Amino acid sequence: MVFPHVFWGEELDTFGCLNERSHQRGEFFLFYGYHTVSGGPVLIALVAGEAAETFECTEPSILLHRVLSVLRGIYTPKGIDVPNPIQTICTRWGGDPLSYGSYSHVRVQSSGSDYDLLAESVGNRLFFAGEATTRQHPATMHGAFLSGLREASCIYRATRRNQNYLRKVIQKNVGSSNDMLEDLFEKPDLEFGNFSCVFDPSIEDPKSIGFMRVGVGSSENSYKQELTSSSQNALTIPLQLYTFISREQACGLELVTGGDESRLSYLVKVFGLKLMGPSAIGTVGNSLAVSISNARRGRGRNRMSAGRQ
Ligand SMILES: Cc1cc2nc3c(=O)[nH]c(=O)nc-3n(C[C@H](O)[C@H](O)[C@H](O)COP(=O)(O)OP(=O)(O)OC[C@H]3O[C@@H](n4cnc5c(N)ncnc54)[C@H](O)[C@@H]3O)c2cc1C
Repeated sequence: MVFPHVFWGEELDTFGCLNERSHQRGEFFLFYGYHTVSGGPVLIALVAGEAAETFECTEPSILLHRVLSVLRGIYTPKGIDVPNPIQTICTRWGGDPLSYGSYSHVRVQSSGSDYDLLAESVGNRLFFAGEATTRQHPATMHGAFLSGLREASCIYRATRRNQNYLRKVIQKNVGSSNDMLEDLFEKPDLEFGNFSCVFDPSIEDPKSIGFMRVGVGSSENSYKQELTSSSQNALTIPLQLYTFISREQACGLELVTGGDESRLSYLVKVFGLKLMGPSAIGTVGNSLAVSISNARRGRGRNRMSAGRQ
């Protein structure tokens, strides 16, 4: 809104207003005074959450009336007159297919790990930057900027690597700490569709936890061919995502009918498991990978010594 003058106070950059009705609490809850940066008496009113959805399908004249009532509710008791604006614009980013909203937010049942997931590259060929890929500084200019630097450095590293074989590309994409995971999944304990699992062979408890890997963005059963192919076209590699899963859950998932899409939906909705990129498995994941690898090696040794006797 452009006003004839700065009625809210030259020194004020931002102010807010609490709404008494909870379902409208996102409506004009925050105001940004841009007079110091825009060169004129510009005031921006923010709308969020449920109120933002209603906002997008409401007549601008009604919205203008409401925002002025909020402002007059704040300033009239202070003896300050709120003039009618000279010009107004109502943005409709929620319905704009190039935006679908103004910036990222964490929905109920989402978490910071979803930002890591959005930042995962695909096949070391397709990289993602932007505010929605940084869990440290989401929804900010500096977050978007820093994520650009992060991905530029990933691209730089990727282009310096020898990409003769797809296998190498995959390993380097996930980093040396994840080479062990790659090795483990060369011989999965359970495999169906684009899902494969590895478990600690020394623990047979159905509740014992192992890794599940899901190849996303690949037609069923083609994933293995793509991994073993020596083709240099890394764009055919599906995005590999991981989750921790118990033996009994993995066996249950194998029985789910309707293909990989149904299984993926079951994994997330029924088991409540979250997929993550290889760089997000963290110390817990790394130590699980080490113990599975050690247990496999131990089992191999036992077999060898049993053979010699
Ligand atoms: C009202 C408001 C106030 C804000 N205030 C602050 C603030 O005070 N401080 C702060 O740090 N941050 C603020 N932010 C957040 C900040 O503006 C964003 O986090 C930042 O601009 C995000 O940058 P980005 O490059 O990730 O995405 P964007 O700037 O959204 O860029 C994405 C671009 O991709 C384009 N695009 C999308 N889909 C396609 C497609 N299919 N093909 C081609 N192009 C496509 C879009 O049109 C857009 O231009 C504010 C944001 C809003 C909306």
